[in-house]
Formats: sequence, C-alpha cells, structure tokens
Amino acid sequence: MFYFDPLYFVIIIPGMLLMFWAQSRVKGTYRKYSKVQSSMGMTGAHVAQTILAKKGIRGVKVEPVAGELTDHYDPGAKAVRLSQGIYGSSSLSAAAVAAHECGHVLQDVQGYKFMNLRAALVPAVNLGSRLGPILIMAGLFFQLFGLAWLGVFFFAAVLAFQVVTLPVEFDASRRALRLVDELGILQGEEHKGAKAVLDAAAWTYVATAFYAALNLLYYITLISRRSS
Ligand SMILES: [Zn+2]
Repeated sequence: MFYFDPLYFVIIIPGMLLMFWAQSRVKGTYRKYSKVQSSMGMTGAHVAQTILAKKGIRGVKVEPVAGELTDHYDPGAKAVRLSQGIYGSSSLSAAAVAAHECGHVLQDVQGYKFMNLRAALVPAVNLGSRLGPILIMAGLFFQLFGLAWLGVFFFAAVLAFQVVTLPVEFDASRRALRLVDELGILQGEEHKGAKAVLDAAAWTYVATAFYAALNLLYYITLISRRSS
C-alpha cells in the first residue's frame, strides 16, 4: 500500500475529516464551558463523590489523573479518574464529565450488557488492531488472499468494539444528565451547557467508529480487486 491509490483517498479522507472535525469540536465545546462556573460551585471531584454517595456506591475512589480529556472510569481498580481541568474545577464541563464517568460506574454496578460486551472484546481488539493490517499487507504482497481475508476478520473486531462503545457512551451521558438534574448539581440553563459538552464527546466516538468502518471497507475493496 506504499503506492498511490485514488480509492484510498476517496474512502479514507472523509473519515479523517470527520475525526478532525469531531476532535476540534469537542475541544472547543469543552473549553467554552470550562469558563462557565456552575451556580452550585461543586468541583468535578465533589460532583463525582456526591453522585456515588447518593447512589449508595461504596468502594469506588475518585482520584486525579494527568492530562487533558483523559478522564475515565477504571472498572478493574474501581476508580473514577478525573483530569486536572475537571477534578478541581467547578465549571459546567467539569460537572458534565465527572457525572459521565459516574454513569460508567452505575453501568458497572448494574451489569449493563453493552459494557460487559465491550470489556469482552478488549483482547480481540488488541490482537486485531495489530495483527489485522499486517495479515492484510502480507496477504496482498504474497498473493495469499486467504491470509488477507483473515486479516479483515481480525480488523472487524476493532470495528465491533467501536460500535459497541457507542451505546456504552451514549448511555453514560444520558445517566449523567439525569443525575445532575436529579441531585441539583446543575440548575436550569446549566443543563444545556453540560449536554453540549457530552454531545460533542459523543461525536468523537461516532467519528472513530465511522473511520474504522471506512478502513474495513477499503481493505475489503482492495482484496476483492486484487484477488479477482
Ligand atoms: Zn465515557
């Protein structure tokens, strides 16, 4: 694939553009609402601790983590990790992100099926993302098309993972917006700011899945053309 292939540009470029657009949009929205303080003035850490306490969840730590937009819930360590811009900030972005990560905690506690499916796919993804493209390249180079198709199968695991990620993320954001209202963490119009941040984040997951789908489509087209 080290030669000029117009098909590559036709299929892959739209996916890349969508990814860039989604990433710049999430950063822009995040920064915009990082400057808007919530009227309750609760920090991200306080929001997370409040949600966990009110939902009767014990044994889940809330701790800071380095970086920007590195916030996540680690189900293995039972820890909600909030980035520097979220942990100690009382902005709308901080409340939205902290509540979203608590949404993942609730999914874990309740055994949300897509979260379990997503976790089950992790080993296949680690293998597929590395091995898939290598098998496809090797298969095409040595004209071993069975090998190339096996690579496509491995790469399909990556797409499956990204597709399963969508309901997990959408559900965590839905839970987050319900929680900030229900527990009075955000008031009135502030809900809209939190929703804008979480919607922008959702688009990055959509763009990533779309990009993986386009890559898979490209590989399939390439192997079909060469093997016929
Ligand atoms: Zn999430």
